[in-house]
Amino acid sequence: MVKHWSLRPTDALRADGLRIADLDTSGTPGFDGDKQKGQQLLAERATVLSGLQEKLFANGRTGDSRNVLLVLQGMDTAGKGGIVRHVIGSVDPQGVDHASFGVPTEEEQQHHYLWRIRKALPRAGQIGVFDRSHYEDVLVVRVHNLVPPEVWEPRYDEINAFERELVEQGTTLVKVAMFVSLDEQKNRLMERLDRPDKYWKFNPADIDERDYWPAYQEAYQVMLDRTSTEIAPWHVIPADRKWFSRLSVTELLIDALERQKLDWPPAEFDIEEQKRRLIEA
Ligand code: ADP
Repeated sequence: MVKHWSLRPTDALRADGLRIADLDTSGTPGFDGDKQKGQQLLAERATVLSGLQEKLFANGRTGDSRNVLLVLQGMDTAGKGGIVRHVIGSVDPQGVDHASFGVPTEEEQQHHYLWRIRKALPRAGQIGVFDRSHYEDVLVVRVHNLVPPEVWEPRYDEINAFERELVEQGTTLVKVAMFVSLDEQKNRLMERLDRPDKYWKFNPADIDERDYWPAYQEAYQVMLDRTSTEIAPWHVIPADRKWFSRLSVTELLIDALERQKLDWPPAEFDIEEQKRRLIEA
């Protein structure tokens, strides 16, 4: 059992059967400690994550095709950026393939919605991070009727098939949906208006989106119900407490990497011979 967790984080946070409407967004499911314990543990676990990531990278350099893809979804202010900065920020940047997905560009609109996603997939040995993802095509698109239901409806099955293909090619998917309460979102948006160092994060349209909160909750629920699969399960992170969401994602990534049972790649040269050469050089 991981220190301070009464359940394995992967089990405690698993989306299966979960109703978002019942979620306590300030909860810390499976974790027994307080904020101080959580922050201490986060620092320890960041070191573990960084070591595992280096092994993944080393294997990628020596022909192993495996990689990890972290998919981050959440409403505005849920803390996706904080995960990138504080969790992914703890590993070697050369081992990270980061991509964020906003409103599709004109060029992207002319292609299938998975076109831009496929282009951004992580290379071998990398930890890929999607800040928003193909799931926007069943979230914002569904909520705002950007295409008719007969177009978005088949996407759930299509996404499952797409992800199966990725898994078969050696990708471990870590799918994370982060949820803050409507009140906590208000606090975080207000903070963006109160602090000059946060103005740049504020978008007036984020306030309009609050009117669509119930529609988003529904779209997120259907997304979890239809695309949390055995090979690519969703995890739901209560995100009112930033330390908890960062610790949770760290644990999920560690679990994904540990399941790969990576070793350091063996030397592709005769070690003794190379030592002799070096001594004589
Ligand atoms: P963020 O809000 O995550 O900081 P941006 O300012 O780039 O990043 O905004 C992303 C916006 O793009 C969000 O409002 C999101 O809903 C929207 N978006 C992402 N993907 C799509 C899509 N496929 N179709 C329409 N809108 C999308």
